[in-house]
Parts: sequence; C-alpha cells; structure tokens
Amino acid sequence: MLLCVKDLKVHYGKLEAVKGISLEVFRDEIVTILGANGAGKSTVLKAISGFKQITSGEIWFLGKRIDRESVANLVKSGICYILEGQRVFRDMNVESNLILGAYLRNDKEGIRKDLERIYIYFPVLKQRRKQKAGSLSGGEQQMLVISRALMSRPKLLLMDEPSNGLSPFMVDEVASIIKEIHKDGIDIIIVEQNALLALNLAKRGYVMEVGKIVLEGSREELLKDEKIKKAYLGV
Ligand code: ATP
Repeated sequence: MLLCVKDLKVHYGKLEAVKGISLEVFRDEIVTILGANGAGKSTVLKAISGFKQITSGEIWFLGKRIDRESVANLVKSGICYILEGQRVFRDMNVESNLILGAYLRNDKEGIRKDLERIYIYFPVLKQRRKQKAGSLSGGEQQMLVISRALMSRPKLLLMDEPSNGLSPFMVDEVASIIKEIHKDGIDIIIVEQNALLALNLAKRGYVMEVGKIVLEGSREELLKDEKIKKAYLGV
C-alpha cells in the first residue's frame, strides 16, 4: 500500500473541517476525492502533504508514519502537492521554473535527465524554455506547474482542481498529461469539481460531504450511483 489515512481529523480553530476520515491509495492507482465546495477535500490533501497540521488520526506512506513530518521531508520522500490555482514564477524563464521544482535534490545528472524527459513530454516547454513563464498561455502554465512538480520525482502526486479555469480543449490536454504521468509510475490523488473528468481518470473514488466520507467505490460503481449522477454528473 502506498498511502493509508486513518481516522483523520483536522481543525481550523474551532471548525472541524475533516471529521475522522479514512482512505487508502494502493500502488498503480489514481484515486479521486469528490465533493461540493467546502466539503474538506483540499484540507485532506494539505494534511497529507504536511501543509496543515492534523488534530488526530494517522497518515502512513510506504509503511512509515508521516503525520508529523515537515513539507520538505515529505517532498523528499515522494509526496508532492499541487495546490489549487498554483502559479508559475512569471518573471523567471520556463527552465528556471522547472529547475526550482528540484530544489531539494542535489543529483545534478538526475535533474538534467528529468528535464530532458519533461521536454519530451511537453515539447512546447522546450521550445519556450528561455521565455518568461508569464508569457505562456493559461494551459501552458498549467503544464509548467505540473512539470515543476514532476521535477521533485514524486511517487504520489496530490492534484487540487487541475482543470480549474482551463478551456475544454486544455482540460482534455491536462487529462492526457495526467494519464501519461501515471503510466510512467506516479500514483495520484485528484480532487476535482469536474467529476466526470476525475472519474474518467481514476480507478477508485471517495465522496466527501461536510468533512466526512459518505461513499466510496470503484469508478464503475460511482458512475452508476444515482446520487453521484444527480449531484456531480448533472444527469
Ligand atoms: P473547495 O473546493 O471550495 O476548495 P474543499 O472541499 O476543498 O472545497 P476545504 O477547502 O478543505 O474544502 O474547506 C473545508 C472547510 O474548512 C470549509 O468550511 C472551509 O471554509 C474551511 N477552511 C478551509 N481553509 C480554511 C482556513 N485557512 N481557515 C479557516 N477555515 C478554512
């Protein structure tokens, strides 16, 4: 098992945003967390990635308890969180943005190889590697944000609303990027408002309502579920 979250509770002051949830991610999985605004999805990702202190519960990653680790240690162990609406460094060129993603690594040769691999994935980033990141289109900036995360060599990527603000064309593009990344051995938790997109990508999913998991199942089970169809798929 890659990740195991047990009875996780997280507070913002007095507000209990996550009320004792448990979830798992196995190797070779994309898992999605669905839910309305404010359900607590981002908070779960923040807790796993060390950005938010937990109140109680346990988080295990590759057999090691990680819920008191720093963000930097978690990145080093292979957990990388792409925040909702995360931006590029607009005044730096594309390549410098990518290299920043490797800030905790010191294997120069490995970094160079990963950069080359990213340029194969995303030829447009290679073409524009000396241009300021702020001059890229919205979709290209999203590619850069994902690529920068890949430069940390994650084993588990936490993606918060990757399709947010993108045109339908770019949403398809980002979906195929996510599939490619996964084929290359990176497992993913994806939080999305676009439930159809998320369920197309994911093998399994969890549904959160006001801090609790109210439903879980395989992609097929969730796509068939009447409540999901009504609330999230607009059927
Ligand atoms: P969204 O899609 O809107 O981001 P979400 O399911 O990711 O929704 P969270 O962002 O995790 O939900 O928020 C869960 C609850 O915690 C909400 O009630 C929200 O208002 C509250 N919350 C989130 N961040 C903070 C914060 N920094 N301070 C106080 N309350 C917060």
